[in-house]
Parts: sequence; C-alpha cells; structure tokens
Amino acid sequence: MEIIQHRLRLPLADPFTIAYRSITDQDSLVVELRDGDLRGFGEVTVNDYYGHTYESMARSLAAAQPYLDAYASEPPEQVWPRMLKTMRGDRFALSAIDIAAHDLWGKRHSQPCWQAWGLTWDDVPVSSYTIGIDTIDRMAEKLQRRSGWPIYKIKLGTPEDLEIVRALRQHTDATFRVDANCGWTVEQTVERAVELRRLGVEFIEQPLAAEATDEEKQDLFRRSVLPLVADESCRIESDVASCVGRFHAINVKLCKCGGLTPAVAMLRQARELGLRTMVGCMVETSIGIAAAAQLLPLLDYADLDGALLLAADPARGLTIERGRVTQPWQPGLGVEYP
Ligand SMILES: [Mg+2]
Repeated sequence: MEIIQHRLRLPLADPFTIAYRSITDQDSLVVELRDGDLRGFGEVTVNDYYGHTYESMARSLAAAQPYLDAYASEPPEQVWPRMLKTMRGDRFALSAIDIAAHDLWGKRHSQPCWQAWGLTWDDVPVSSYTIGIDTIDRMAEKLQRRSGWPIYKIKLGTPEDLEIVRALRQHTDATFRVDANCGWTVEQTVERAVELRRLGVEFIEQPLAAEATDEEKQDLFRRSVLPLVADESCRIESDVASCVGRFHAINVKLCKCGGLTPAVAMLRQARELGLRTMVGCMVETSIGIAAAAQLLPLLDYADLDGALLLAADPARGLTIERGRVTQPWQPGLGVEYP
C-alpha cells in the first residue's frame, strides 16, 4: 500500500487567537493511502502546543510504512494497537493514518464510517461556531458576520473575559459556550461561572491548566454552577475514567487520541461512565472535519467549524449550514480531495 503526504499551508479568513497562541496560517498534513484505485484520506495539523512538527510526523509515518499492507485486509481498529507501537506512540501522525484507513475501509465496503460502526444518524447535535479572541468590537463583528448559528463557542482567557461575553450577548440570543483554554484558577472559575450562567452560557471548557492537581479539579467540580468540559485534560483512552467527578463532559479530538479508532472507544466509555460527550476540531480542512463528523451519533455537543475558519478549503463534500451537518451518505468520510 502506498502512502502519500501532502503538506498544506492553509491561510485563515481572519487571524485566530486563543489563550496561548495566535495564528494567521495553519500547517496541515493530509495523508493519502492508496490501494489500487481506492484512495483514503486522513489529516492532522502541525501542533506547537503538543510539539508535533512536519518532521516528527514524517519520521513516524516512515516507521509505519512497511506495515501499512495490513490495512488491505484488516479493519483499522484491529491494526491500530500495532501501529501505535510501530510509530512509538506518536498519536498525532497515527491519527492521520487511522482516519485514512477508515476512509479506505468505508469506500471498500461502500458504507459511510458511522454506518460501518453500527450507529444510527438520529437527533445528532448541531455544531457551534467559534469566535476566537480579539478586541471586543472585532469579536462582535465576527459573530455578526456569522449570524444565525444556534450556538457560539467563545474563546476566553483574557483580562476582560466577562466583558467579552456581556458584549456578545447584546448581539444574539443563541446559546453560548466558553473555552478558557487552561487560562483560569479555581476561584476565578467559581466566581465567573455565576455571571456566565446568567449570560446564557451552557458550559465552560477547560478552565484550569492541564497540570492542575486532582484536588483543584474536584474542588471546582463541586463548586462550579456550570458544567465543566475536559479538553487539554482528556487526551487519550486512559484519561476518560479520571474525568469522572472532575468534569461533566469530555472533548475528544482525533489528533490528541490517535484517530477514529480510539475516539469511538473513548466516547462509548464516557457515555457508560455517565459523562457527556463532545468532539472538537482544529483549524483544518474538511477532511479532518468530515472524520470528526462521523462521530456525531455518539455526541451531546459538537464543535466542527474548523474548515469554516479557512480562507479556502481544499477538500469538498461536507456541508455545515448554520451548525447543521448534512448526513454523510457517501462511503468512508464522504469527502473529495483533488
Ligand atoms: Mg478547547
């Protein structure tokens, strides 16, 4: 089986800022698996926060290359644990391969991924639209430019977090969710949650640093009037159980956990443990977003707007209309890449 790497520099429609970084372009790696006439696509973005570069991922993909033929006959879930070892635990690079393998498997069996997993496309949640950190005026302008979405996710972690939410509330009645990206302390969160709830905020994503102690997380869990969602604190399968009693929900991302295989397992485990489920995305093309969208039947919350933040999307096939994702009926991920 052949593997082809496409390195893409994706210009953003607007600079995108969160609590710990700001970008105008996003570097992304599209991985293509070729088996005869069939082509499967996966994607992973270069990520400074988690320390994954083109070079580090290329080394992992080179290590995987001799073993890729397994995907011609075995389902991706079966190959995944062996690949993780072969790629020395590089879940970022593995996520691109695992997504491409799921795309290929679906195409070979003429089924969309969600159907191959035995899921039913019923009552799936709508996606939020993300407003990155900027001046308050420009954040309001971004919201108005994308008016009519039922849910907005507001990036916080600035000295004027409450002012931002108060200002945005003047422009819409939509549900708000906020993401502090590790920017707050326990006391700040407890206090802000009261006002945020009054302002129509549904939950707070990752208020505390990923390194916060277990005592801090449990203390906040007991005292916060708003539900708490783990993102940076929940990366892989073994993190899910430790979120019980510390968070109300988990935000799974394909690049953090290593692709669709562990994501399906984590979401199923979370639901069994009574945690609510969410899938987020990076700023990425419709390949990565279409992969995450296959998980919608397993979700309570979705944040799949990454491709809409791009100036141009090189992949086609997935549409999100004011948060509503069209049901993907095409085999595999249902996206086309040139
Ligand atoms: Mg987040």
